[in-house]
Amino acid sequence: VHRGFAIALSVILAALSAHAAPRVLATIKPVHSLVAAVMGGAPDLLVAGAQSEHSYALKPSDADKIGRARIVFEIGPDLETYLARPLATLTKADIVVLERAPGVHLLPARRGGLFEPDAEDGPNDPHIWLDPENAIAMTRAIAAALTKADPAHGALYAANAARQIAALQAQEKELAAQLAPLHGRPYLVFHDAYQYFERRFGLAATGSITVAPDRPVGPRRIETLRQAIRAGRIACVFREPQFPPHLIDTLTEGTSVRTGVLDPLGAALVPGPDLYPKLMRSLAGALAACLADGSR
Ligand SMILES: [Zn+2]
Repeated sequence: VHRGFAIALSVILAALSAHAAPRVLATIKPVHSLVAAVMGGAPDLLVAGAQSEHSYALKPSDADKIGRARIVFEIGPDLETYLARPLATLTKADIVVLERAPGVHLLPARRGGLFEPDAEDGPNDPHIWLDPENAIAMTRAIAAALTKADPAHGALYAANAARQIAALQAQEKELAAQLAPLHGRPYLVFHDAYQYFERRFGLAATGSITVAPDRPVGPRRIETLRQAIRAGRIACVFREPQFPPHLIDTLTEGTSVRTGVLDPLGAALVPGPDLYPKLMRSLAGALAACLADGSR
């Protein structure tokens, strides 16, 4: 009898809690982290592992997540082209396009020099989350969307968002102090994901290795980059965990250039409210470790 009662009670409680907060889906880990902090709960996540944020292939379980979501938080069409059709056909959820949220600033994709974005890419650089000021604007947009869908918890979302914004502001000051000595140091990134971070903290990559993260790099481009490295114009070459390291090995073979790892998504980090600040700290730490030596 007791057991039956316990099961009935747990079913009722599950139903109540499911009713309490709207079902939410976030596309990438950094967005998921900001949403989790504002919700005080665990939204669904689409790109969970080490896949590229640009060319994700939806699994059947992802279609279920999209189908049951009441709100979908995405960066937007400059990043998640793979989502346009599924969102149009699988869901009636509110779609929150964070690249268009009030206060989020968009930068044009970098071109020229050692940056050569794919001609098919959109005009905007979609990696907006790597600027903490954008993360603050995104946090406000997330709180507004959650409150609209679930006004009963508006005060909770407002309080969580205020706490998150204060933490982001404090971390921005810390990172600015940590990165100030690195101004002007030249480095290559794997793909051009870090412009927002660099602008905010006064850094500037010399170039990116891939023109598009999912395409092979041509021999002429490899030779151009090898020349820049051999000429001593590069202090550090960064790879990314989403892509195999053999290309970096080809580029740096026979040189003394340092290498490091930059991860724009938090591929190895546990999803949740702490992921975003950990991601930013690990980017700053990787840059500082590879560039701190002023020998170049
Ligand atoms: Zn990217």
